[in-house]
Amino acid sequence: AKVQGRAGYAVFDPVMHTRAVDRLQLETDLRRAIATHEFQLYYQPIVSLSTGKISGFEALVRWFHPTRGMVSPSEFIPVAEDTGLIVPIGALVLQEACRQLRVWQLKYPDFTDDLTISVNLSSVQFRQSGLIEQIDEILQETGLDPSFLKLEITESTIMENADSAKALLEQLKARNILLCIDDFGTGYSSLSYLHRWPIDTLKIDRSFVNGIGIEAHSREIIWTIVTLAGNLGMEVVAEGVETEQQLTQLRLLKRECHYGQGYLFSRPVDSEAAVKLFASELRW
Ligand code: C2E
Ligand code: CA
Ligand code: CA
Ligand code: CA
Repeated sequence: AKVQGRAGYAVFDPVMHTRAVDRLQLETDLRRAIATHEFQLYYQPIVSLSTGKISGFEALVRWFHPTRGMVSPSEFIPVAEDTGLIVPIGALVLQEACRQLRVWQLKYPDFTDDLTISVNLSSVQFRQSGLIEQIDEILQETGLDPSFLKLEITESTIMENADSAKALLEQLKARNILLCIDDFGTGYSSLSYLHRWPIDTLKIDRSFVNGIGIEAHSREIIWTIVTLAGNLGMEVVAEGVETEQQLTQLRLLKRECHYGQGYLFSRPVDSEAAVKLFASELRW
């Protein structure tokens, strides 16, 4: 990597060089990881704030690198998006999440009546041709009823693909797949479009939930989102619930915030620990 020096000539920047090499290494490693199945899904419960019971799980990908150990998705998802590798990784995630819920449904019918599985969809996947066909194939292969699958899509993903987004969302909705807007309230404002999209759930970004006890604005923003969702007939999930105080505040809102997700309930856990969570009939 070369940058323009102050005097106008190109100088070698060792920091940028190291970053470029690291990135290239990460890309090489990612390609191998796909081939050798180094990914695993972790599951974080989404809790009904009225009953205190687990209503579903969000599947979050983890990469177990042979020498580096667990690599965080915030480190490799951006690289996977830039290189297009998010498409095969996303397919693996979707396949595994659907397969896992179907296995739980068959093995633990008493605990999984209306348990849903949420899967994150990157904007690159959203633009990928053949996405619908891929989802259809996975649902058919795994035998999961589409009404138990929830796709999490950010506002910016929808806004960046404004021309095709509505039709795509409608195709997904036509299959009875549940649709959730992730990180709601950040990035692009989609307020004027929201009512035209077949969205079931708004997930309030954790920055607002974090701020509840700290700054007056956060509570007002949450109240506004919950009211908006209520008026549009959508459900609400508050993400990043970490403290009892935040939970109490969410339960005190005059309009209903239906669900919560965060470290207070549980960190994302592997599939065995997830079974223990739902089978224990724990209540919050
Ligand atoms: P996200 O979709 O907003 O997922 C929620 C993130 O917040 C997760 O981080 C989760 O572990 C973390 N989290 C949950 N509760 C709390 C809490 O109480 N406090 C705090 N501070 N954090 C909490 P994770 O698993 O590291 O994932 C980070 C991001 O990487 C995700 O953000 C999502 O954008 C992306 N990601 C993860 N898995 C996938 C995947 O399978 N596909 C795609 N496309 N993106 C993924
Ligand atoms: Ca998410
Ligand atoms: Ca989120
Ligand atoms: Ca996020």
